[in-house]
Amino acid sequence: MQNINQTNIENIQKSKDLVLSISSPESILENSSGEVMLGLPSLFHGEAPEDPLMEDGGLFSQVIFGPIKDWFCKCQKYQGKEYLDKECEICHVKISSSDIRAEKMGHINLPLPFVHPLYIDQIGILINVNKQEMEEILNFKSYQITKINIEIINDFLDKINKEASIRVQKASSDYLKTGHELIEEFPEGIESGEYTLKLKKASSEKVQTILNISQIKKTAQDELYSLKLDSVMNKADLDKILQKFPNSFESKTGPELLEHLLKEIIPENEVVEIEKLLDLEENKYNYGFEKNLH
Ligand SMILES: [Zn+2]
Repeated sequence: MQNINQTNIENIQKSKDLVLSISSPESILENSSGEVMLGLPSLFHGEAPEDPLMEDGGLFSQVIFGPIKDWFCKCQKYQGKEYLDKECEICHVKISSSDIRAEKMGHINLPLPFVHPLYIDQIGILINVNKQEMEEILNFKSYQITKINIEIINDFLDKINKEASIRVQKASSDYLKTGHELIEEFPEGIESGEYTLKLKKASSEKVQTILNISQIKKTAQDELYSLKLDSVMNKADLDKILQKFPNSFESKTGPELLEHLLKEIIPENEVVEIEKLLDLEENKYNYGFEKNLH
């Protein structure tokens, strides 16, 4: 990077082309003079500084971007051109002309992936997701299953089968028990109308219980079988299934999901190739820019 001086400014004014291109994370870090940690004043706890954005690490930090007053460090220990490029050991501001603030860059580390609004449409086309689906993903409304935990699902299926057969056995033994009790109550057996009536009732209750058990079993099995890789669901359905069958699958939403889908369609070796091409493009433009300046 070079200092902006009058000749350079005139050269920039004379240049006919301006190219905007994407920078790689490495190149951003390379050109950054520091991480901007403080943004809005609301991030401050306790007493807010006079101008939070001017604080060290703030959006207008002198440590990152250079002094606001020509040849003065922030604490004013060093004053004067003779200290050019000297970093103050107290306030850590490097002495220079304040013009340097126009060209120095900082960076912000994002805790989560972020989709640049300019590329939303293009990413949608690449991964074959329409505009509405894209909005739902970016608003964290749509979740996509990215991994099925087969072993856990099989364990749940086993458990469902075992529980169902235990309950069916219990319904059958309850019915037998009722039968014995009825014979004791009505020794005359089927000759008693009440005996026949009560036995029929117990029998139909047993059938109903077994039907209910098999219905519950089928619903649970259907829910587990319906879990397919790449299927999409909303947050409420997702929570419902995970509450019933914890850890049965993994899902993603938001930019993290888009990153996952992009990685799926672009193999790792191609990413390396594309990054190389982007680096070449970036260097080409940088070269063009430098050339115009001289
Ligand atoms: Zn200082």
